Amino acid sequence: MGKVILTGDRPTGRLHLGHYVGSLRQRVELQNSGEFDKIFIMIADAQALTDNADNPEKIRRNIIEVALDYLSCGLDPAKATIFIQSQIPELCELAFYYMNLVTVARLERNPTVKAEIQLRNFGKSIPVGFYTYPISQASDITAFRATTVPVGEDQEPMIEQTREIVHKFNSVYGETLVEPEILLPKNAACLRLPGTDGKAKMSKSLGNCIYLSDTAEDVRKKVMSMYTDPDHIRIEDPGKIEGNCVFTYLDAFSCCDHFAEFLPDYSSLEELKAHYRRGGLGDVKVKKFLNSVLQEVLEPIRARRKEYERDIEGVYEMLRRGCDVARAEAAETLAMVKRAMKIDYFDDTEMIRRQSEMYRNAQ
Ligand code: ATP
Ligand code: MG
Repeated sequence: MGKVILTGDRPTGRLHLGHYVGSLRQRVELQNSGEFDKIFIMIADAQALTDNADNPEKIRRNIIEVALDYLSCGLDPAKATIFIQSQIPELCELAFYYMNLVTVARLERNPTVKAEIQLRNFGKSIPVGFYTYPISQASDITAFRATTVPVGEDQEPMIEQTREIVHKFNSVYGETLVEPEILLPKNAACLRLPGTDGKAKMSKSLGNCIYLSDTAEDVRKKVMSMYTDPDHIRIEDPGKIEGNCVFTYLDAFSCCDHFAEFLPDYSSLEELKAHYRRGGLGDVKVKKFLNSVLQEVLEPIRARRKEYERDIEGVYEMLRRGCDVARAEAAETLAMVKRAMKIDYFDDTEMIRRQSEMYRNAQ
């Protein structure tokens, strides 16, 4: 069995630094490692509609934004199949059958969904589609027989749910589905990148993002007004690193070369942190350094985006081809699933022959 990747993003907005460190950067590395037989990258529009049903225009508009972000980060359609979830109806069919293998109590226990329900103030009015999106995600992953799912930490409960569905399916209907593994970023700061406001997660829904397509000036402004240590008032005060997102971002993005290039008074991030803890190092200096680091990361991404923006029709054509490839793959899995579940009546010519013999003999 080959190694297969499936991962994706909701087209609820442009992609941000959280996506980049949580999943996108690693995807590009994995894509270029040559270790994977197939790579599927999904724009999860059907999932995005589960909590945006009344705003289809927002989802429609963001398909191209996410596709442009992908291409500008280095995802390569020659190596990875980029496709749109809603164009693969087989995914809905799989989810419909998996629903029989999951209890309401099990869905209720999902901590990520619980937090998201609270964030969206759904109260008791939770759309059923939103509530069951972990099941739909299980069909996305298994449809492509994915072995590896590179995502951020918030997705851990979804992959766990998928693995449970795979176990249950295989034990009831026979060995059919592939059990996926989650692949988290190695760097702890990247598991769940905080927002520029210091909140636990940078998220489109919270409006605390630095977007990959922000202009250099927007990035600079966002960095300069970022949350740090509220008790670090004068330069000489000792400062806190924990919960100080400027340092979390440096953990996620900076390397030794950045010090040589932009802040040669220090040789490493540890040295910079020690100075901040002791006191005598101002926020502005650290923020200016972070800005230089981020601009260096983002500049080539912005430049590539400009190139792809010149050929939007070409980008849609790439997506259309991706959907065709993805659909063929999902259809193969669905056929396997239907066979295992014994709902492949017309393909089972042996059954039809046996039954017709039985009825003929009884006449
Ligand atoms: P929404 O608010 O619409 O849910 P989002 O910003 O949470 O959007 P998603 O599309 O839900 O983004 O997430 C896509 C991928 O990016 C997932 O793998 C998720 O784990 C990862 N991701 C999103 N935000 C972060 C973050 N702040 N840190 C690390 N990974 C993240
Ligand atoms: Mg999310």
